[in-house]
Amino acid sequence: MAYVISDSCVMCGSCAGECPVGAISQGDSQYEIDASKCIDCGTCANVCPTGAISQG
Ligand code: SF4
Ligand code: SF4
Repeated sequence: MAYVISDSCVMCGSCAGECPVGAISQGDSQYEIDASKCIDCGTCANVCPTGAISQG
């Protein structure tokens, strides 16, 4: 299962730069994870300041 970003995202951008496979991009109201690219490493969840990212 890929990681997912909840509506707690404040669009700080920290997660996108840390993803080793470039699976995170900026959406209209929050950042989004491409489930087909995510390798479940957990790095993004560890850097998110609001705890918006969790394993789906
Ligand atoms: S869990 Fe890892 S691969 Fe998946 S979106 Fe987060 S940083 Fe990228
Ligand atoms: S690190 Fe968290 S708050 Fe920042 S853009 Fe990513 S999901 Fe949103």
